[in-house]
Amino acid sequence: MATVDDDLTPRPSLPGDLDVDVAIVGAGYTGLWTAYYLAGADPTLRIVVLEAEIAGYGASGRNGGWCSAFLPLSVAELARRHGRPAALAMHHALVSTVDEVGRAAAAEGIDCHFAKGGTLTLARNGAQLARLRSEVDAMASFGLGDDSVLLDAAAARARCGASEVLGAVYSPHCAALHPARLVRGLAHAVQRRGVRIFERTPATAIAPRMVQTGQSTVRADVVVRATEGYTPRLPGLRRAVAPVYSLMIATPPLPPSFWDRAGLAHRETFMDGRRVIIYGQRTADDRLAFGGRGAPYHFSSRIRPSFDRDPRVFAALRRSLVELFPDQADLLTIDRAWGGPLGIPRDWHPSVGLDRARGLAWAGGYVGDGVATTNLAGRTLADLIRGVESDLTRLPWVGHRSRRWEPEPLRWLGANAMLRLAALADAQEARGRGKR
Ligand SMILES: Cc1cc2nc3c(=O)[nH]c(=O)nc-3n(C[C@H](O)[C@H](O)[C@H](O)COP(=O)(O)OP(=O)(O)OC[C@H]3O[C@@H](n4cnc5c(N)ncnc54)[C@H](O)[C@@H]3O)c2cc1C
Repeated sequence: MATVDDDLTPRPSLPGDLDVDVAIVGAGYTGLWTAYYLAGADPTLRIVVLEAEIAGYGASGRNGGWCSAFLPLSVAELARRHGRPAALAMHHALVSTVDEVGRAAAAEGIDCHFAKGGTLTLARNGAQLARLRSEVDAMASFGLGDDSVLLDAAAARARCGASEVLGAVYSPHCAALHPARLVRGLAHAVQRRGVRIFERTPATAIAPRMVQTGQSTVRADVVVRATEGYTPRLPGLRRAVAPVYSLMIATPPLPPSFWDRAGLAHRETFMDGRRVIIYGQRTADDRLAFGGRGAPYHFSSRIRPSFDRDPRVFAALRRSLVELFPDQADLLTIDRAWGGPLGIPRDWHPSVGLDRARGLAWAGGYVGDGVATTNLAGRTLADLIRGVESDLTRLPWVGHRSRRWEPEPLRWLGANAMLRLAALADAQEARGRGKR
C-alpha cells in the first residue's frame, strides 16, 4: 500500500437503503472482478460493492503477487474427485486466466508490474527432489509435461542462485505482480464501468436478496459474498472457512551485484519443496518480497490487525531467506513486514456458485492461490448471475460445497497440529541432508 500511487482516502459509506440488481460484499479481487465483468457484459445492471474498510484492505492488497495457474488441489486430486476431463478443463481455464489478468490490467491502464516469468519450485534436499519428481510424472500422465518441467541442478541454479539447489520444477504459468496496485487499479476500473463502491460499510448480515449494514438495508436480486478469510465474522458462517495467516517481509531494493548471483532475471517467482509453504518474488523495484504460512491459527477463527504482525514469524522468514541466499545475508534486511488472513475450506477445495432461488452467490476458499483464481471466479459469477451457460459455468468448482470446519476446540487443535506436523516433517527432511 506504501507503493501504490493511489489516494487511500476512503470512498463514501453507504448513505441509506438501496434497491439494486447485484450487491457484492467485499472489495477484494473476487468482488471487484465480479463487478468488472458483470458491468462489462451488461452496463444496464445496477451494481454496488460494499466494503468494510477500503478496497484492497484484505488479502488482495497484501499478498505475494504470484498470479499463477495453481490451485490448492493438484490436477490429480481434481481428477480423483471430478474426473479427468473436468480436471483438465479447470487447469486450462486457470492457465488462460493468468494471461487474462495481464490483459485486463493492461486494457485498464493498471500499472501492476505484471511480468510473466514463470515459477520455480526448488528442491533443496533429497526428499523434496523425490516429491517434485513424482509431481512432474503426475503432470506428464495428464499430458501436461510442458506445464511442469524438471530442471537439473545447473539449469535450476542458472535461473535462481539459491543455496543447496539439487533441481527444480519450472512452470511457465505464473506472473509476478504488485498485488495492491492491481486491486486499487481494479477498483477505479470498476467505477469507470458505472459500479458504485461504498467503503467503511461493513455488512452485518447477508440474507436472501438482502444485505444488512449497521444502519441500512440493501435489497438486490443477487447478493454476492466475496469476503474470503473474513467470512467467519458473518452470522451463520463461523465454520465456513478457517482464516489462516500468511505473513510477509520485503527487503529494501537490492543492488545489481545481488541479482548477478541470485538470478530471477525474468522475475520468476520461487518457493522450495517444503511443506510449510514459503514464497518469494523479485519485485519491479528489485526487492525480495518473501512470505510464508507458519503463523498459528487463532482460536475461534479470530481475525485481528495485531495478528498481521508476529515478530517471531518475521524473524523465521528472514532466517529462511538468509538460508536461501547465505552469501549475501547482510543485504537481506527487513524493510517492510505485514500479513493477513486467507481462507481455507475444510476440504481445501475452492468454489464458486449461485443459489438462484435464494439470490445468494459466493466465491472463495482459494487458500493461498487466489490472485489468478479470483479472476476466473469473477468471470464465472458474471455468467452465472446473467444466466449464461458457458465453459466457465461447467467447471468442476462451480456449485461445489465443502463441509464445515469442526467446532472449537477441535478446529484449533486440528489446524495447529497439522501445521506443527508439517514443520516437523520439513525439519526432519532438512536434517536428512545434514542441516537444520
Ligand atoms: C500474505 C498473503 C500472501 C498471499 N500470497 C498469494 C500469492 O502470492 N498468490 C496467490 O494466488 N494468492 C495469494 N494469497 C491469497 C490471495 O491473496 C487471496 O486468495 C485473494 O486475495 C482473495 O481475494 P478475495 O477478494 O476473495 O478476498 P480478500 O482480498 O480478503 O477481500 C475480502 C474483502 O472483503 C471485505 N469484507 C470482509 N467482511 C466484510 C463485511 N462483513 N462487509 C463488508 N466487507 C467485508 C474485507 O475487508 C476485504 O477487503 C495470499 C494471501 C495472503 C494473506
